[in-house]
Amino acid sequence: MSYVLGLKCRECGRLYPKEVVFVCEYCFGSLEVDYDYDAVRRSLTKAALASRPKSLWRYRELLPIEGDPTVGFASGFTPFFRAERLAEALGVEELYIKDDSVSHPTLSFKDRVVSVALTRAKEFGFDTVACASTGNLANSVAALGARAGLERYIFIPADLEIGKIIGSLIYRPTLVAVEGNYDEVNRLCAEIGAKYPWAFVNINIRPYYAEGSKTYGYEIVEQLGWRSPEHIVVPCAGGSLITKIGKAIKEFVKIGLLPEAHPKLYAAQAAGCAPIVTTIKERADIVKPVKPNTIAKSLAIGNPADGYFATQAALDSGGWGESATDEEIIEAMKLLAQTEGIFTETAGGVTLAAAKKLIEQGRIPRKESIVVCITGNGLKTQEPVMQRLGAPVRIKPTLASFEAELGEQIGGAPARKR
Ligand SMILES: *Cc1c(COP(=O)(O)O)cnc(C)c1O
Ligand SMILES: [Zn+2]
Repeated sequence: MSYVLGLKCRECGRLYPKEVVFVCEYCFGSLEVDYDYDAVRRSLTKAALASRPKSLWRYRELLPIEGDPTVGFASGFTPFFRAERLAEALGVEELYIKDDSVSHPTLSFKDRVVSVALTRAKEFGFDTVACASTGNLANSVAALGARAGLERYIFIPADLEIGKIIGSLIYRPTLVAVEGNYDEVNRLCAEIGAKYPWAFVNINIRPYYAEGSKTYGYEIVEQLGWRSPEHIVVPCAGGSLITKIGKAIKEFVKIGLLPEAHPKLYAAQAAGCAPIVTTIKERADIVKPVKPNTIAKSLAIGNPADGYFATQAALDSGGWGESATDEEIIEAMKLLAQTEGIFTETAGGVTLAAAKKLIEQGRIPRKESIVVCITGNGLKTQEPVMQRLGAPVRIKPTLASFEAELGEQIGGAPARKR
């Protein structure tokens, strides 16, 4: 049973059948999945949801597949909780974290988009999947593709963090490290995709892939007790996630799962790669590509595919955008770890640092509800913090050595008194 009517051009509105198409033949606009919302409304009810497994597939009616899901049964429904200690540090009243740093199986929100993309790729009959990635997408296609029994060709910039490279290689895909930045990798992949019969998850089946991001937004609403927060701060790379969180909330209102809601969406980017944030601040119509230079490699897309829509999602909601320097990113990673016990990757540092600045500027009022989107895990991006955290206290395996080193700190008897 499918609830998908077809694909629709996001620019001119022309309709297309639900096949492997991704750009409008008339205006070159990108295509988006369109659903039969009346049918969805009848089937996707709170009562129905109550008995479904806690994975992203609980929202199946709003995901673009035809049959039953075949990939990612354990993905999604990640932790969501009130962050009291971080709220105190930031001087705000009601702060929440949506934590995809512990997403199954590859510790980033990309497991959501890949679960949907690979299920759809198998329905189309592909036996080979591929992607252009800044690291996390690579890990997820490598892992979920292995479990789905698919051949995998994965293209990354050659200078990625070791955690992201090992985190792909372990699953034995064909990993291609391209000597260039992501935008160059992506351009190459468009050429390769036109020649080889592969499902490039973020190129030729992108309309289906991108819909997986909506589940991050659905979960925020459900886990907050069926309401929308007033402010959501979202990290942006290609600009898809922020756009789809906006779509998710509109859909829940449309099918009656949520009363009228208008959360403000804020784009977070690194100062060294902030094409979307710059466009928002200038209220411009065109996103100017930049050359990335930042430690937040997972967000280092200089020419974002959904940059225009991300900008619109932020501005139309009444939100804004903010960027963070490498120094601010590292400080925010440490703050999140010290207050809430979460080790996020550089992208999470970007998001928290941007949220902090938006609060300090008064753009996000201190008394209103705020969700900070944590989308990736710090064990994958250890390089930037490696030299910044000090070292363990090193001792001999004796009580005397322990007390000699730490006696003062723990208030115990110094070793020599014993
Ligand atoms: C890919 C990615 C994002 C941004 O996703 P887009 O949808 O491309 O904007 C955010 N956080 C992390 C950790 C990512 O890997
Ligand atoms: Zn069009």
